[in-house]
Amino acid sequence: MAPLAPLPLDTDVAWIHGSPSPRHLTDPPLQVHHLAPGTVLIRQSKDLTFEAPFILLLLGERRALLLDTGAVDGTTLRRIVDDLVADWRSTQDTVTASAVDAYDLVVAHTHGHGDHVAGDAAFADRPHTTVVGRDVEAVRDFFGIGDWPDEVVTLDLGDRTLEIFGIPGHHAASIAVHDARTGLLHTGDTVYPGRIYVNDPPALLDTFDRLVTFADDRDVRHVLGCHVEMTRRPGRDYPLGSRYQPDEPSPFMTVAQLRAARDAFRTVAQRPGIHHFDDVVFCVGEGPRVIVPLQARALLEQVRWRLGLHRRPTGP
Ligand SMILES: [Zn+2]
Repeated sequence: MAPLAPLPLDTDVAWIHGSPSPRHLTDPPLQVHHLAPGTVLIRQSKDLTFEAPFILLLLGERRALLLDTGAVDGTTLRRIVDDLVADWRSTQDTVTASAVDAYDLVVAHTHGHGDHVAGDAAFADRPHTTVVGRDVEAVRDFFGIGDWPDEVVTLDLGDRTLEIFGIPGHHAASIAVHDARTGLLHTGDTVYPGRIYVNDPPALLDTFDRLVTFADDRDVRHVLGCHVEMTRRPGRDYPLGSRYQPDEPSPFMTVAQLRAARDAFRTVAQRPGIHHFDDVVFCVGEGPRVIVPLQARALLEQVRWRLGLHRRPTGP
């Protein structure tokens, strides 16, 4: 039997993107968007954290996977996730629902950086919940990845099987999550329309090759990451720390864009510094060539935002 085609995702959504000045904060703490049944993408507000990360919730018949807990205290996220799980269970047919007495929640992370794990504590006392650790060992142990990072393992949510493998390069414990039901390949901070901070260039070269090979081998329809930092103008990113991004592209990328990012990275992997391409910016290394220009732009942007200069029209 041929595999079912992935469910179409509703990716046509206007995401919250921050406020033009500190005197006009407009965004709710979180925006919740249903991409497809049992597939929820949540964005944290730029009014709370410039990181404004995306958080993914995938629901199966027996358990759900929450990928990341955001950059701030997770109390609000916990309440929203509890509601989403309850809503989802109420739509399950009664035979399935009654057969599952304990519906589990797995709280895992695309990787262990602070802006993806800050809400963990709010889930620590949640019943039927496992909060996965942040280092390579904890991630390997939980998902059962013997041959790290290459081995592709599965996580069964109940009538919904995810595939997971290691993708170091930005962070040692980064994972990719593939959901065949929706054709979604989640890559965390490793591939997204923004600045890809490269901590380990050889590892990222290998990761990119494995991501492209994997995507070619599956019916991947969307590549998703945790942030948006590009503008819609090719090669132009918002400054680090931006609190207002009115001209963001979609967080969803195509496999062709993933392949283009891989090809681009091959040309700059050996060169510490900031390298701009149409869809992504690679920040290779952590030396002054990366830090100084990033911080200078960030400072200028902070002044502009605080003074409310974004309220003026900024030209074409
Ligand atoms: Zn990160």
